[in-house]
Amino acid sequence: MDMTFHESSLKPDALGDLSRRLRELEISEARYRTLFNNVPAAVFQVDASEVEDVFVSLKRSGVEDIDAYLIENPHLIDIANSSVMVREVNDVALRLFGATEVSQLLAPVAYIFAGTPEASANVMSAHFRGRPNHYQRLKIKRFDGRLVDAALMVSYPQLTSNFDTSVLMITDMTEQVRIETELRKMENEFAHFSKLSMLGEFSGAIVHEVRQPLSVVANDAATASRWLSKSDPNLPKVRELVQRIEDSATHATEVIKRVHDMASKATPERRICDLNRLVASAITFVKKEAARRSIAITTKFSPALPECEADPIQVQQVVVNLLINAIQAIERSERPQRGICVLTRTGDGRVSFEVQDSGSGIPEDIIGEIFESFFTTRKDGMGMGLSICRSIVQSHGGNISARNDPAGGASFQVWLPSEILSLNGSTSDG
Ligand code: ADP
Repeated sequence: MDMTFHESSLKPDALGDLSRRLRELEISEARYRTLFNNVPAAVFQVDASEVEDVFVSLKRSGVEDIDAYLIENPHLIDIANSSVMVREVNDVALRLFGATEVSQLLAPVAYIFAGTPEASANVMSAHFRGRPNHYQRLKIKRFDGRLVDAALMVSYPQLTSNFDTSVLMITDMTEQVRIETELRKMENEFAHFSKLSMLGEFSGAIVHEVRQPLSVVANDAATASRWLSKSDPNLPKVRELVQRIEDSATHATEVIKRVHDMASKATPERRICDLNRLVASAITFVKKEAARRSIAITTKFSPALPECEADPIQVQQVVVNLLINAIQAIERSERPQRGICVLTRTGDGRVSFEVQDSGSGIPEDIIGEIFESFFTTRKDGMGMGLSICRSIVQSHGGNISARNDPAGGASFQVWLPSEILSLNGSTSDG
């Protein structure tokens, strides 16, 4: 039968109809092209018919668990990677992969999965299961070798569809990943900061619990001494009061002990730490607060500091607490100098850090008491900070001391056993 197309054999009406339809088709094609190239994602049309044939025969032979099958037969993934062909791509795809020619992308799909090989198995698995689409995050390996964070969406041909092609869309997620990483970092810093600031939380929580027995102690002591000052003291009554004083004092002591336990031994961790790094990161937590008050924090770190075995969070709590005290001392003082210097040094099998401030120093008559629980000279102070610092330092086998600088200001020094010391369990010089 002659199937040759003879234009002349068509009636003028039919010819007009045909050219109109052709024009419509062209317009439709142009519209599709515009859409295809303006989708804000790299689009790949792929022909997966060969894999579909394999799937059909696998299903016929009774394969149900495609994931297990692909693990046992990884060569099937290689076959798919080299036989599923990219038939069409848009301009975004060219830019995403850093290709110069469309022909570079009209190739087997292997290059799409080069950055995340397991994505290929996932895409096959979803296809085998008859899912309408598949989404996952992956890394794209550009032609210049650079890895790019991306998201892959695959839309599979459905039985009802006229198209036998799968459509893969890839969006560049570099910016999102950057924001996500930034957010995670902020979250971590926040969690870390709230741990570091727990000294304050502890103090707030316990102050009420301790204040109550202490006021009982004060009241009962006053009453007892009134009874005792009478010419005929009611001794049973005094005995009762003294007993209550003892109970209340014991209760208060227990509360204090509990706080110390929580702060210094809650989750004792021992890690090999670089003290310079611990101190530096603790400083970052108060740097803004200090800057807001025009207080400069400088450091003089020993370059050859041996490592120490410590609970990093607890050591940072001590540093932060000493820094906060230093800031408060400078705020209280009238001196023009406003600076904190943090030093680290080593010696005698120990490592140390020292926080020096330019405040007015510690009055000599109270210097022996400042590490006691509830000792404070501040109106809104709790007097717990230094006492918890001391508990933490002592639980590390170290010590903390305070002195006044002859040039003005206070200086707190913390010594911790260095790693060599704690591993040997003895000092080198006794
Ligand atoms: P708080 O800060 O709640 O008073 P602390 O235990 O941290 O509790 O401090 C106890 C006291 O030690 C303070 O009230 C203050 O008198 C004194 N002190 C602490 N640090 C300094 C410092 N850097 N300079 C001067 N005095 C200080």
